[in-house]
Amino acid sequence: MINIKTPAEIEYMRIANGIVRDLLLYMEEIVKEGVTTAYLDEKARAFIEKRGAKPSFLGYEGFPGSICTSIDDVVVHGIPNKHTYLKEGQIIGVDVGTFIHGFNGDGARTFAVGKISPEKQKLIDVTRQSFFEGIKVLKDGVRLGDVSHAIQTYAESFGYGVVRELTGHGIGREMHEDPSVPNYGPAGHGVRLRSNMTIAIEPMINMGVKEVYIARDGWTVRTRDGKPSAHYENTVLITDEGVEILTL
Ligand code: MG
Repeated sequence: MINIKTPAEIEYMRIANGIVRDLLLYMEEIVKEGVTTAYLDEKARAFIEKRGAKPSFLGYEGFPGSICTSIDDVVVHGIPNKHTYLKEGQIIGVDVGTFIHGFNGDGARTFAVGKISPEKQKLIDVTRQSFFEGIKVLKDGVRLGDVSHAIQTYAESFGYGVVRELTGHGIGREMHEDPSVPNYGPAGHGVRLRSNMTIAIEPMINMGVKEVYIARDGWTVRTRDGKPSAHYENTVLITDEGVEILTL
């Protein structure tokens, strides 16, 4: 069942996702060569708690971090740790979740560590733009597949692989609610999206093949060919005319 949020619930979603927005801007400032992913995790947790919220990811199905830190060929769900130092030329996906007043916020960005190759920059830019191609078509009454198809078509036009195993999702009282929001699929299919639904749209785009695998830690998702992957996510509120992006 897809939840339609009440005006009061939407206000709480704005609060939770406003913290995500601010935290992602802060993360962009502190991502640099030589810091560990554990450092980013500690700083994020402190930021979230200072705002009176909780990190939604911490303990989620046993996840050990407050954020996910996914470097280069890691697609998503990288576990922060004190042994992994950021190096110039890497790209790092930072995915954060917040929980406050009974509601969740969720968003992700991929950042450059120092100077990166033009190929990696293009991957980041296309991944971000694929999100915006998706929301261009999104408003009350459109079918989910129209959004998915727009994301897929744009990303694949650059020869990139669109990850199938992981998707966006409805979000509210639960971090993951219905519907599942794939980044691929045929237009004109799927449920109709309605005003006052809140969904997280999160393209995960690989420079090479679309196939991924889960590492032995049970969390880390990597590209099968070892090429880089980028992630871009916002939580959006669907309106009669379009969307309100709650994490931007
Ligand atoms: Mg998400």
